Amino acid sequence: MAVVPIHSPIAHSATPVKLKIYTRRDIDRIPELQGLTHEQRHLMKAVSAVLPFRVNDYVLENLIDWSNIPDDPMFQLTFPQPGMLQDGHLERMLDLVKRNVSHGEIQAAAREIQSGLNPHPAGQLELNVPTLDARPLEGMQHKYRETVLFFPAAGQTCHAYCTYCFRWAQFVGIDELRFAARQADALFRYVQEHPEVRSVLFTGGDPLVMKTKVLRKYIERLLDPSLEHLESIRIGTKAPAYWPHRFVADEDSDDLLRLFDEVVESGRNLALMAHFSHPRELETPVAREAIRRVRSAGGVVRCQAPLIAHVNDSADVWAEMWRSQVRLGAVPYYMFVERDTGAREYFAVSLARALDVFNGAYRQVSGLERTVRGPSMSATPGKVLVDGVAEVHGEKVFALKFLQGRDPAWAGQVFFARYDPHASWLDHLKPAFGQDEFFFEEELRAIRARHRRQLD
Ligand SMILES: *Cc1c(COP(=O)(O)O)cnc(C)c1O
Ligand code: SF4
Repeated sequence: MAVVPIHSPIAHSATPVKLKIYTRRDIDRIPELQGLTHEQRHLMKAVSAVLPFRVNDYVLENLIDWSNIPDDPMFQLTFPQPGMLQDGHLERMLDLVKRNVSHGEIQAAAREIQSGLNPHPAGQLELNVPTLDARPLEGMQHKYRETVLFFPAAGQTCHAYCTYCFRWAQFVGIDELRFAARQADALFRYVQEHPEVRSVLFTGGDPLVMKTKVLRKYIERLLDPSLEHLESIRIGTKAPAYWPHRFVADEDSDDLLRLFDEVVESGRNLALMAHFSHPRELETPVAREAIRRVRSAGGVVRCQAPLIAHVNDSADVWAEMWRSQVRLGAVPYYMFVERDTGAREYFAVSLARALDVFNGAYRQVSGLERTVRGPSMSATPGKVLVDGVAEVHGEKVFALKFLQGRDPAWAGQVFFARYDPHASWLDHLKPAFGQDEFFFEEELRAIRARHRRQLD
């Protein structure tokens, strides 16, 4: 197989850059945090006992504007904020921190609060688990006919954590390479038995926390000629934003790009589904080099992110981000509505506001940026686009549209909900025009009942 050499001035001149990770234990050690007041650091300790953070030196030194704390969007994205806990919870944790009680006591209180925060939203666990040989397949979800979501066991953590996200909570430590081989085999067989699957989407956590040789175990199997029907391999990742050195100056960066190149050489699309939350993440030279190198290996970079209060709740921010992406040869793909998990109230943006932000940004860009779709909710029945607000026979409504449906026949269907300025998720909405329920609800109940029987 012809492997195109990957040329990069940075990779060949730079010595490998070592990733340094900081967590809650380092609050009194991270140099940048020592500019905060004593009280601010106490608050950070209190909140982060419940909502752990993890940052690295690249984020600390390149992405956060330390002259604008606490409002800086990248600080809000990566460091826990007092507003993320309800008042009673915050006071309880703060009191424990100030009294300097034992680690165990803090943990116990934190776990109690965590269990009320809905770490597994949208019926993900019960409804989407596929089966092989009549047994449920761990680490896979098959919700939309064409695409299998795959969670490699060794990719369930991230280079840094986003404060609004709970995905890393699934992380479990195991013997990476051996487990990877077994899991890769199950994925291969599943795709082989399902000719309707055209795309495998690796997700996590962040699959690119894995060493290339581990990722290769999964991906190489999928290039087998017997999987002719598999047209694309996608990797959902925040690495270009949180650790762009992954593509440039890690020990195995060149191997990673060669792996991407092999996917392309096999006649398939290799897409990096890159999570960019803010235009600043696209500004550093190494982030730009990362995108350039993925493209030079024949990969496509598609960009998506949720709309998050305190982080990117601004039309100008999105317009600037989409324009930067297009300049760098990346493709704006989705704007998501933040799902119902974690410290939702702090980060939530109403659907009406999300639509304003989306349209305000959309109007500022050319057709090249308008490959983006949104605001979109990944809800139990499917990916639902909030397409607009309209008035029909005197009733103000949201026009909604399925981009993806649990039943493939729903894709493209338009439906209407009563306008509600406070609604921030699909299940807050009521059908318009006096109807009792949305068109898909009866079928969704049937699908649920069927799955329950299968899994029992
Ligand atoms: C978003 C999503 C996909 C991919 O959908 P595309 O519209 O093809 O990008 C696949 N599975 C699940 C569960 C998803 O949420
Ligand atoms: S990088 Fe992705 S999975 Fe990891 S914390 Fe952020 S949003 Fe969650």
